[in-house]
Amino acid sequence: MIISLDKCHLPFRTALIILSVVTLPWLGGCNNHSETATHNDHAAAHDPAHQQSATPPSETCRDKKPSEDAVTTHGKNVILLIGDGMGFNHLRAGSLYRSGELDAPPYRDFDVKLAMSTYLYGGEYVQGWDAFANVKDGATDSAAAATALACGTKTYKAGLGVDCQRQPVDNIVEIAEKQGKSTGIVTSVPLSHATPAGFVVHNVSRRNYEEIAREMILDSGVDVLMGGGHPWYDNDGQLLETPESYQYVGGEKLWHQLQEGAVGNDANSDGVDDHWTLIESRDAFRNLANGPTPTRLLGVPRIAETLQQGRQLDGDGDYGSHVTTKTVTPYTVPMITTVPTLVEMTKAALNVLDNNDKGFFLMIEGGAIDWASHDNQSDRLIEEQVDFDRTVAAVCDWVEQNSSWQDTLVLVTADHECGYLTGPGSDPRWNPVTNNGAGKLPGLEWHHTSHTNSLVPLLARGAHAEQLAQRATNADPVRGPYADNTDLLPVMQSVLAE
Ligand SMILES: [Zn+2]
Repeated sequence: MIISLDKCHLPFRTALIILSVVTLPWLGGCNNHSETATHNDHAAAHDPAHQQSATPPSETCRDKKPSEDAVTTHGKNVILLIGDGMGFNHLRAGSLYRSGELDAPPYRDFDVKLAMSTYLYGGEYVQGWDAFANVKDGATDSAAAATALACGTKTYKAGLGVDCQRQPVDNIVEIAEKQGKSTGIVTSVPLSHATPAGFVVHNVSRRNYEEIAREMILDSGVDVLMGGGHPWYDNDGQLLETPESYQYVGGEKLWHQLQEGAVGNDANSDGVDDHWTLIESRDAFRNLANGPTPTRLLGVPRIAETLQQGRQLDGDGDYGSHVTTKTVTPYTVPMITTVPTLVEMTKAALNVLDNNDKGFFLMIEGGAIDWASHDNQSDRLIEEQVDFDRTVAAVCDWVEQNSSWQDTLVLVTADHECGYLTGPGSDPRWNPVTNNGAGKLPGLEWHHTSHTNSLVPLLARGAHAEQLAQRATNADPVRGPYADNTDLLPVMQSVLAE
């Protein structure tokens, strides 16, 4: 099947017909333009001998129905998981590493599997299957992409929560807060970085970190905010003699006030200030997975930027050149044990947010997928992707144990692709990521050190998931039906409005 449809808008019925026949293209394609058409590693991917993952995430999403005796919340919830820089091949690489399968749980169990365009204001998606370099033009950045996802508005690079005229646009956090919902933002990179910021603030530039952090902490109604950027620790989680920078947490004075527990505005409009409870240690994150919680939680792990991606404890102190010149096995460099995983942060966030009977909105970002991709670090990409995949699985578990698929919409997508990741031997021909079995680094090839305008994955499961499929009115010859990043806001709104 070859569909030449870039830029055209199909009638809804036609889109549904296409949707019904493009399940395989989402997995990798069944036509001669496909990345996966030229190799026969599908067979190896389904070899049971490869299915025992060295680092399997929870697989309880599969086959599990909401149990009748489970204590469930009845508010309507939206949980949006964003893999920053995560293209189709990033997702597949993680799946192959975890299980030796292209489409392993938790993603296998999602009802709606689409592609999504991510271009900037004034741009367009131009498919690059016949011209290898096409998608290097017109790529967005995390700020503009977060604005499109959170506000439904295309904007310029670096713009956060503002349109192309630099005017503020309501975001999903503000919309949810007005409805009496709780809201949360969790990221594996600094909490005031572009993706989390794009869901909370209105600022003309993503680079105004201190200002952005202050707006998030002092002015927004967010109830849970978690991310890196600790002023007193380096990227190995080691305590510094003097702090590096307070910019990610809103400045030195605000940091000290946060430590004293004396900061907080009226987040839920009841006339009473809601002070932040600051947590930093891994134990503090873990202890909040169950039981009583503070009403408002600020989690800043003891790390300078990313949870794990920036660590250098490989013995030679020269990680950058180390990985660009050698193939390194994931997890060879010991993990930092003093910072929480994205799963641990997510569990604590959910435990706070589910106290609200009206429901909540939560955005979780696997932010360092992008950082590993900029540096073309295949091993770190796998580590970050697997951490993200485990978080998606943990979210599915939470839905089944504490809510239901009728009450909660779970979305998984990316803000853009990064690194132009393919299988080996590509350019000009596209080759698939090759399967070397579970626990083994898949065959990967990088073609760029920045973002591309490629389509990215969009998966949905639960309440109103079918609405996204209806919005996928364009089709790509390889990726199949695709929606746009501005299509998520109305669907998320429709869930929260119930
Ligand atoms: Zn990036």
